[in-house]
Amino acid sequence: CGIVGYVGPQPALEVVVDGLKRLEYRGYDSAGVAVVADGRIETEKRAGKLANLKAALEEHPRSADGIGIGHTRWATHGAPTDVNAHPHVDNDNRVAVIHNGIIENFASLRLELEERGCKFTSETDTEVAAHLLGEEVKAQDGDLPAAMRAVCRKLEGAFTLVAMYVGQPDLVVAARRNSPLVVGRGDGENFLASDVAAFIAHTRDAVELGQDQVVELRRDSITVTDYDGNPAEVREYHVDWDASA
Ligand code: GLU
Repeated sequence: CGIVGYVGPQPALEVVVDGLKRLEYRGYDSAGVAVVADGRIETEKRAGKLANLKAALEEHPRSADGIGIGHTRWATHGAPTDVNAHPHVDNDNRVAVIHNGIIENFASLRLELEERGCKFTSETDTEVAAHLLGEEVKAQDGDLPAAMRAVCRKLEGAFTLVAMYVGQPDLVVAARRNSPLVVGRGDGENFLASDVAAFIAHTRDAVELGQDQVVELRRDSITVTDYDGNPAEVREYHVDWDASA
């Protein structure tokens, strides 16, 4: 339902949770975040309101190393529980992913992954993307953008996916197909979200991705390609309406 990603020097958890707060008006049934802290992926996720997630984060404080992703879920596959909330991780806990939309061919992908020994913990369609990314990031020698492009070529349906990988702790990667994704260009920091409302407090310079594109977000760069890795055209614009409410 709602998606937020951040790369930069501010406390990533705060930026991400604040962004989720600004997307609350869309409605959701659970919320979660992932950061890289001390070279590990740390996730926290809770069914119910953002207040539940915030309480859990206060109980287990951690400082993020400069990247973070967050999600508010509107369940389509699997009940709104803590376990089914996003982010989802691969079996090695090296890749974390959040997802808006529906992966139509998740059942056959899940069977194939289980036959290869993958263990599933949730009932979501999303979790196949986490395990596929885990496999691909190994196959692509630790290159998350290449892994994301390879995974997107296997997925059917409508989706926005946002991922991070412990091996590249300066990078957030996202992809879209028939589902919204907007990048916010900052100064030494960059943002992404399902809606500009999530980052308007930080920047009004936005980059709208086209269909079937992948974006690599680092502190000082925004790189967009198609699913084959070719450079892609994007639309840059300035948000001049008042979204401060
Ligand atoms: N299909 C996914 C799920 O049920 C994502 C739902 C959403 O867009 O929030 O977990």
